[in-house]
Amino acid sequence: MTSLLSGWGRTAPTAATLVEAGASDVPALLRQAIARGVIARGLGRSYGDAAQNAGGTVLAPLTGPTTVARAADGTPLVTVAAGTSLHDLMATLLAQRLFVPVTPGTRYVTVGGAIAADIHGKNNHRDGSFGDQLVSLDLVTADGRLRTVGPESDPALFWATVGGMGLTGVITAATLRALPVESAYVAVDTERVPGINELVDRMRAGDDAYHYSVAWIDTLARGRSLGRAVLTRADHATADQLRGPAARDPWAAPRGPRIAVPFTPPGLVTRPTVRAFNEVWFRKAPRHRVGELQSIAAYFHPLDAVDDWNRLYGRRGMVQYQLVVPDDAESAVTEALRVLADAGRPSFLAVLKRFGPGNPGLLSFPMRGWTLALDLPASPALGPMFRTLDALVLEAGGRLYLAKDSRLSPETFDAMYEQADDFRKLRRDLDPAGVFQSDLGRRLQL
Ligand SMILES: Cc1cc2nc3c(=O)[nH]c(=O)nc-3n(C[C@H](O)[C@H](O)[C@H](O)COP(=O)(O)OP(=O)(O)OC[C@H]3O[C@@H](n4cnc5c(N)ncnc54)[C@H](O)[C@@H]3O)c2cc1C
Repeated sequence: MTSLLSGWGRTAPTAATLVEAGASDVPALLRQAIARGVIARGLGRSYGDAAQNAGGTVLAPLTGPTTVARAADGTPLVTVAAGTSLHDLMATLLAQRLFVPVTPGTRYVTVGGAIAADIHGKNNHRDGSFGDQLVSLDLVTADGRLRTVGPESDPALFWATVGGMGLTGVITAATLRALPVESAYVAVDTERVPGINELVDRMRAGDDAYHYSVAWIDTLARGRSLGRAVLTRADHATADQLRGPAARDPWAAPRGPRIAVPFTPPGLVTRPTVRAFNEVWFRKAPRHRVGELQSIAAYFHPLDAVDDWNRLYGRRGMVQYQLVVPDDAESAVTEALRVLADAGRPSFLAVLKRFGPGNPGLLSFPMRGWTLALDLPASPALGPMFRTLDALVLEAGGRLYLAKDSRLSPETFDAMYEQADDFRKLRRDLDPAGVFQSDLGRRLQL
């Protein structure tokens, strides 16, 4: 079936043949691959062109069973089909008093997508990214072979696939460590922070004491208020912290969206609406509140309450710009916020998180430091600002996140990812005929 597919940003849709298949059909599908090749797709939550393949084949999520076992040392291990969403996986795990080791800002991503982008959560400073929590993954490579690869058994292929944006093969299943928890709630400390310098100081001094940390930033604030923020840090709630509804139903799994945006309205995310929203959001946050019980959905995935919220950005769609810079380069974050505020571009969602040391993934995004993510209404006028930001990030020794990217040039990408050529070489050896292709892969000459 020919389908017009886009990323979450809805900026550059392309047509491909969308194929629904079972894991055992994948080798035959690869043998039939036409010149434009094949790419696996999850739930399409990457913002740009990673899960698109213009004129080629796109493979829909592969479903299958989920099982939980214990390793010899008692660590709970979950084996799950790659097309399973984290929403469904959380429901299975919470029923067994477990939680996913890493969750992004939405539960509607698949395990395959989580591996291919090596996603990070609000706990990267402590637990690393999704790839760090994997024991092994099952991968069908271009020759049609199903291989089980792990960080010890085949480190080269494992660390090319973690963060490899689907270009090393089709992941059919994975085994990962699960996290024992005492409830489906978190205890959250919230504080309002008047500016970027205080924010950096507080995160640097205090994040290690928490499992999770994230700061929402008002990007329209300027001058002494530049980077004013609401910092929320949390730990899994213990059984004795539960009160009220949480005590009555401690294992309530997150539910589906409560409302939907049924059509694409004219873009509602404008400078006045964002300014008004940011003001209210900042003022309504408590100056300092400790130990508030929040559900998993409320703390980790507030946007999931609204289905198709990306439509609110109108027909042009949106772009996300997510950068990371090394730990001692926090001035680059301040400068990026200044560039954004001076340009007067409204970013409704801007978040700052701290990353731990990163892993050997050839194209993995995290590195020890600061990551700033900005959602912006798409506009041709953003080009010059993005180029200024790219230069700032490069100068600081940082990079941009491929799962959010839709516009990097191969030259800038290569300057940001020093192992890009190692990835290309591995691809040439593993997939000489170029069976795996995507719009992103062609754009970045991977
Ligand atoms: C609201 C929102 C919040 C987000 N927050 C975060 C965050 O906090 N942290 C973070 O890291 N990311 C975040 N993301 C990005 C998201 O986690 C990643 O883009 C993730 O890859 C999306 O998974 P998906 O299943 O939708 O995959 P898709 O977007 O469909 O695909 C992403 C990539 O995975 C590959 N892929 C998918 N399935 C397979 C498979 N079976 N085998 C091989 N390759 C495969 C695709 O080829 C593609 O390259 C967020 C996205 C949204 C929309």
